[in-house]
Amino acid sequence: MPRIQQLPTTVVTKIAAGEVIERPASVVKELLENSVDAGSTRLDIEVEQGGSELIRVVDNGGGIHPDDLPLAFTNHATSKLASADDLFCVRTLGFRGEALASIGGVAQVTLQSRPADRQVGAEVSCNGGVLGQVKVWNGAPGTRIEVRHLFYNTPVRRKFLRAPATEMGHLCEIFTRLALARPGLHLTLRHNGKHVYEVTSTTTLEDRIALFFGADVRDRLYAVDAALGGAHLYGYVGDPSCDRGNAKTQYLFLNGRWIRDRSLGHAIQEGYRGLIMTGRYPVSFLFLELPPDQVDVNVHPTKAEVRFRDSHALYSLFLNTVRQRLAQENLVARLQAPAAPPPVPPPAAWLSPAPIQETPSLYSQPGLPSFTKNPLPPPPRNGTSAPLPPPEPADLRRAAPVSEAPADSRPAAPVPEIEADAKAIQLHNAYLVLETPEGMLVIDQHALHERILFEQIKQRVRTGTLESQQLLIPEPVDLTAEQAARTLEHKDELAELGLGVEAFGGGTVLVTRYPALLGRRSPGEILKRVVDHLVAKERVPTREQLLNDLMSLMACHAAVRSGDPLTPEEITSLAAQRHLAQDAHHCPHGRPTALLFTRQELDRQFRRT
Ligand code: ADP
Ligand code: MG
Repeated sequence: MPRIQQLPTTVVTKIAAGEVIERPASVVKELLENSVDAGSTRLDIEVEQGGSELIRVVDNGGGIHPDDLPLAFTNHATSKLASADDLFCVRTLGFRGEALASIGGVAQVTLQSRPADRQVGAEVSCNGGVLGQVKVWNGAPGTRIEVRHLFYNTPVRRKFLRAPATEMGHLCEIFTRLALARPGLHLTLRHNGKHVYEVTSTTTLEDRIALFFGADVRDRLYAVDAALGGAHLYGYVGDPSCDRGNAKTQYLFLNGRWIRDRSLGHAIQEGYRGLIMTGRYPVSFLFLELPPDQVDVNVHPTKAEVRFRDSHALYSLFLNTVRQRLAQENLVARLQAPAAPPPVPPPAAWLSPAPIQETPSLYSQPGLPSFTKNPLPPPPRNGTSAPLPPPEPADLRRAAPVSEAPADSRPAAPVPEIEADAKAIQLHNAYLVLETPEGMLVIDQHALHERILFEQIKQRVRTGTLESQQLLIPEPVDLTAEQAARTLEHKDELAELGLGVEAFGGGTVLVTRYPALLGRRSPGEILKRVVDHLVAKERVPTREQLLNDLMSLMACHAAVRSGDPLTPEEITSLAAQRHLAQDAHHCPHGRPTALLFTRQELDRQFRRT
């Protein structure tokens, strides 16, 4: 039976450090917060190897009294709180006095500081929790801190660090949050001796947004400003057309601190209801100012989550602010206009001997619940400012039936019946309707084509016959640094899918090769979708999962859309592979691909039986 023993301080420190310091980005977060709390107006950050070798932050803030230097590395030592009551009126970013102690416990740290009113400053080092002698330091007023060899004394945790580019991505995200949270700050970031970002104090919030997310995001923002009780909410919400595959570009700052909050995120999403597809997320940059006694910031180790005194009121404030602002833009009309079905002729016209195509559409007819029960949401691309070119007819003609492709490892299924001459008609540039032995089949043209392309890509990847086209001029795609890092990390999988990517510096990635199957769809556009997907993944997907996900993503993106007119050959080609539409195996959006109206059902509806 093991006996109970008090853990040595060094172990306690390492355990505590695990809560706060997960990776280089967490170190940077704590150091930047300290510099901001010290009233700095300029912060220079330099890192090597994604921060795992070196992180150096130099600020021009108030500095630390030489006598206090060793205390800075002591656990629960802070200049920001005096009593427990102060916990409920926190105005600084830090207050727990554990960051430097944690960092000092798992790295080799040198802290140099000089308050502006002193002739000389002092320095002290802390290596793996062991404090050195305080020495004189003759530097400029402010604080300079160097953190080397993070986790050098906890090899298991060091092994958990990802590639430098990935760590750098996380670090850039921390940098971005601070740059957005404090528009007056002058910030610079260098990596391995190279300039990454310089944000001057005069760079406005809008220009900071453009710097990190591109001018196309900045140019599609709507300003909001609202107050409720003591709460003040302001900032920007994005046009629904700059939606994303995840909620990461929804920035929320509470009293200058980046936070995430599920409930408020939900309120924002609700504000876009009807304007954005399920599974897509708007971008937003919102600032909430609250009296400090209205919020408890001491509920999360890295203070990324907080507890509000009146979260219901805030939910309404967010929802109403977003909803009302978007309503002013008349977005509903713009988004739905292209998707609206042609107007149904007035009832009188139905009675007159009108030409056949004038009859009301099948699925707008009342009394046939099964025709209307699955209204499709607007197609994904509606409302975006740059529609893609129409698909090449060749795309579809290349869509050979899957049974012609080389056999794969699946068990031989009964060979699906392929009627090359199946007669189909296209309705509303969206549906194919055809007669089958069982009755009448209505197919969603996008869903079916997506399914066909998916099978083709899969076959060709499996057999190594996916054609990839070298781009004469590589296409640069601007991403956030984190996105770029994730993309490059999956370079090999992407190459297997015929998508060649290369680093170009900063957040820019070059697309060098491109799957021929995807026709004339913009490579950049596809890459952005792929990236959204990669970044949305919390855990690293297995290679198989990733390939599978990316294949369906590419298929979805390259397929003809609802609203695309098709040539008779294209309709025939699609209809010939309709068996794929009935295979419920692959249904990425959870929507049906085809609806079958049986002969019996039709007879019953027309009261023939
Ligand atoms: P906290 O920020 O929660 O107080 P830290 O461990 O991060 O705890 O820092 C301990 C103390 O060291 C701070 O309270 C502050 O007084 C001092 N300090 C740390 N970094 C700086 C800095 N860049 N400038 C001035 N003082 C600093
Ligand atoms: Mg701190």
